[in-house]
Amino acid sequence: MEIKEEIKNWINGKVDAVGFAPVDRFGEAPEKHHPEYILPGAKTVIVYGRLIPRGVTKSPNYGKYFLHRSYHTVYPYLDELGYSLSNLLEAETGELAVQAPSYLPMVFHGMEPWGVLSLKHAAEKAGLGAFGRSGQLYHPKHGGMLRWGGVITTAEMEGDPLIDKRPCPEDCTACMKACPVKAIQDEREKFEKMTCLAHSIKHVIYPLAMKGEEGRKRIERITNTAGYNYWMECFACVKVCPLNKTKD
Ligand code: SF4
Ligand code: SF4
Repeated sequence: MEIKEEIKNWINGKVDAVGFAPVDRFGEAPEKHHPEYILPGAKTVIVYGRLIPRGVTKSPNYGKYFLHRSYHTVYPYLDELGYSLSNLLEAETGELAVQAPSYLPMVFHGMEPWGVLSLKHAAEKAGLGAFGRSGQLYHPKHGGMLRWGGVITTAEMEGDPLIDKRPCPEDCTACMKACPVKAIQDEREKFEKMTCLAHSIKHVIYPLAMKGEEGRKRIERITNTAGYNYWMECFACVKVCPLNKTKD
């Protein structure tokens, strides 16, 4: 059996979507976040997604509590899958593999956090979705409710077809209207990540540990060691997006 089929059989039932991206699709990736910079000789990125239950968006009083638990349950799960899949790949093919972190550790450019590998961009290149006006990736069936994990490997595998159709209905502006800090601005096709993060991510340690110039210089170490279990104060754009709904 081909290794791609073997991986699909192995992961079937463990995730809600999986796709394969040849590394030659990553031409526009920033140098330090390119799969070949992460693993020299990389040929394929395997990306998989797990659903956040839609009930989270329907709970009027405890949605944030459920979102908190959903995110922090799914990230370790995705990392464990990447760890096991990397070992499986190395054993079956004799090639190299590494798991791309589903959340932490992140790399900081100044105060801005970047994934070691941007999994939403990798998911796009693996044919798992297309970007909407909110700056998020939307899967044709699951919308923006998937959290992503991935594996970078030197094993060569065929890529899955890309989705190039923009997902948003032509006149929809629901996420822009819902965002209390105007982080989503369609006129500039831009999602202001830092504006969103400043409003939505809350953590009890950050204001204390990052006090003053010296504290801010340590932002990468502080976030990567103490940042798990952050609180998400806002997910208004997720709740209103029609692409995230099955039935009301
Ligand atoms: S999470 Fe909140 S702050 Fe961030 S883009 Fe969505 S609505 Fe705006
Ligand atoms: S709310 Fe509307 S414009 Fe925003 S991402 Fe969803 S479909 Fe696109």
